[in-house]
Amino acid sequence: MDYIPTIGLEVHAELDTNTKMFCGCKNDPDETKPNTNICPVCMAHPGTLPTINKMAVKHVMRIGRAIGGDASMKYSEFDRKSYFYPDIPKGYQISQYEYPFISNGELSGVKITRIHLEEDTARSSHSDGESLVDFNRAGVPLMELVTEPVIHDAITAGRFARELQRLLRTLGASNANLEKGEMRIEANVSVSKDKTLGTKVEIKNLNSFRSVERAIDFEIKRQIKVIEKGENLEQETRGWEERTQKTFRQRSKEGSADYRYFPEPDLPKMSLSEMKEFSPEVLDVELPELPWERRNRYKKDYQIKDDAIEYLIDSEAKATFFDAVASELEHNKKLVERATNYIVSDLAGWYAKNGGESYEHINPVHFAELIRMTVSGDVSSRGAKDILVHMVENGGDPKEIADKHGLLQERNEDALVLVVDTVLRANSDVADEYRSGKENALQYLIGQSMKESRGSGNPELLRKILIERIGNDSNI
Ligand code: ADP
Ligand code: ZN
Ligand code: MG
Repeated sequence: MDYIPTIGLEVHAELDTNTKMFCGCKNDPDETKPNTNICPVCMAHPGTLPTINKMAVKHVMRIGRAIGGDASMKYSEFDRKSYFYPDIPKGYQISQYEYPFISNGELSGVKITRIHLEEDTARSSHSDGESLVDFNRAGVPLMELVTEPVIHDAITAGRFARELQRLLRTLGASNANLEKGEMRIEANVSVSKDKTLGTKVEIKNLNSFRSVERAIDFEIKRQIKVIEKGENLEQETRGWEERTQKTFRQRSKEGSADYRYFPEPDLPKMSLSEMKEFSPEVLDVELPELPWERRNRYKKDYQIKDDAIEYLIDSEAKATFFDAVASELEHNKKLVERATNYIVSDLAGWYAKNGGESYEHINPVHFAELIRMTVSGDVSSRGAKDILVHMVENGGDPKEIADKHGLLQERNEDALVLVVDTVLRANSDVADEYRSGKENALQYLIGQSMKESRGSGNPELLRKILIERIGNDSNI
């Protein structure tokens, strides 16, 4: 029988708050000067006392609500998790153990065990035999989400992690950038031939969704090999090495007994039910449209294809831009479909080539106007692409841009009749071919008319006029 892989994820995310978790220091991930956002509390000076950041609790409660988790309304507390390391000034981290804020829930089809709140560690760096510690990050609010061991392949794990990132960003709970360490994923992997779970290995240093997927795949294969050789797997922590695309042993896994958890005596026990702002009713009102709700709406209202939807909802800014455009187009399905195409192909192509993806400097009103111009035939699709480039680069009204750069199509029928007549006079033989049933001849005449109008003629209109004029010899 084949081996069944099992995966459970543990995800940490730095929360977006003004101040740190237990003191008034600024929570500023962009601060580059080391040890500026520090105070006696987060530096663990004797005699200092922590206080709880309400915004951080709110973020966790919102996330819990979004995934349908159970909030510990009656009783919750913080605990001390002791260990000794230079990045942990108190000698313990304030975390939650027995009473996490959130239990249960589900995201992307994966059962969630818990979400709790804790504080981040300082950032240490080692070079030239010297170790430096920057405490700006020490005490930054950190949430930890743990899934049940219910994932069975790398792709599902990757999809879950991406959906979680999307949720955190949608809620404004975290920037959740993996490269910046704002979101950190640990994957627990085991293999087994039956329903009892095998020995699990925890993988760290996963700095991208791709490495999450690759490390899981690598680890599944490695574990099967070890078992097939008749050797025993050890419960251990392994790292992921990007260069070799392999996991490597870091240390044997410490048990929770090593941390000597006990309730934090310097913080009050909490009964969230006594605070109105954490009630389900208030949280529900505050929740924005969630990623899966948005996905369903795009499907239902506009019948957009799945991969286009994924592209649109990939960032808040992009989805917001799309929604504004759709609303400008009065949710007309045809127009929105066209707008979607321009966003997922032309605009995406421009950003892929030039970078700096941002939707803030394109006015959705202007973008919608451009879409209408392509439908009315005021601009050709070629011209629309040129206008779009101008709009991305410098902003501006598409009508003005079209005018300034001669990209408007001639829609004045009288002017085009003159053009068509000139072409027909010069090509009477081709007109005859068309009359005798040669369809291609018309295409040629449209081309000639476009040329004659120096590209300003609307091809649809030229076709209509040509057919009229060819059928009416007396006018020529
Ligand atoms: P620990 O006490 O070692 O931290 P937990 O039971 O708290 O272990 O689980 C930590 C993570 O590991 C969770 O995401 C859980 O789903 C996952 N996990 C637990 N057992 C296994 C296993 N046998 N195989 C894969 N993942 C597992
Ligand atoms: Zn501080
Ligand atoms: Mg655990």
